[in-house]
Amino acid sequence: MRLVTHYAAKSNQITYKYMHRISDTLSEVKNRIRAAASASGRNENEITLLGAAKKQPAEKIADAYASGISHIGENYLQEAIAKQEQLKELAITWHFIGPIQSNKTRALASHFAWVHSVDRFKIAERLSQHRPPGLNPLNICIQVNIDKEAAKSGADLADVDELLDKIKDLPNLYVRGLMIIPRPRETVAEQRDIFKSTSVLMMQLNQRHALNMDTLSMGMSNDLEAAIAEGATIVRIGTALFGKRQ
Ligand SMILES: *Cc1c(COP(=O)(O)O)cnc(C)c1O
Repeated sequence: MRLVTHYAAKSNQITYKYMHRISDTLSEVKNRIRAAASASGRNENEITLLGAAKKQPAEKIADAYASGISHIGENYLQEAIAKQEQLKELAITWHFIGPIQSNKTRALASHFAWVHSVDRFKIAERLSQHRPPGLNPLNICIQVNIDKEAAKSGADLADVDELLDKIKDLPNLYVRGLMIIPRPRETVAEQRDIFKSTSVLMMQLNQRHALNMDTLSMGMSNDLEAAIAEGATIVRIGTALFGKRQ
């Protein structure tokens, strides 16, 4: 962040504003990823930095893209489609990471390369049905409600096996792995526990279902180090990259 002075031409007023520079915050985030990867003996190239851009303007996404971020996550369909239209010249890979209503599956299946928040069979089935012919299968993650929170999206832990069993044969989906949004925790040790259990869960699911899921979508601005230590392959970073949301 740096303090810049704007001279408003018309009024001759001077306004001060903290201007957010993606190139600065991006190098901070990348340093954190690199340090966390090296601390756990991982290659930083195994970890995709997904810019979580909800409630951020298209200009910031364009800046991030110019600085090397090509994976962008969005939570709200209408907002995402508007930004995709503004940024259609850029080779961005779009990920949907928000809660899914079943009447939105057609639009999701055609506007995104990835959907991280699949948590019930009906949604998966519709995404597969609605994936336009000619596009690659839609990459999906199963969102697991890992903390068993009553009001949260995500499949119940007890239902994941059955869900995966049904989803894995859908023709136009490519089941890549698991996504979680854990509740905040006080310590890194506690953060690591929940990420570790997710990692172990994916290994067990791979064995039980003879799959090769390779994606753990976990870790946000406040806990990316713990997530990387436990095997995250996609970290979804909003505030630390784009600043406060509008
Ligand atoms: C907003 C959001 C993020 C990013 O959160 P920050 O704490 O701002 O990094 C990541 N994942 C999901 C699903 C989100 O909704």
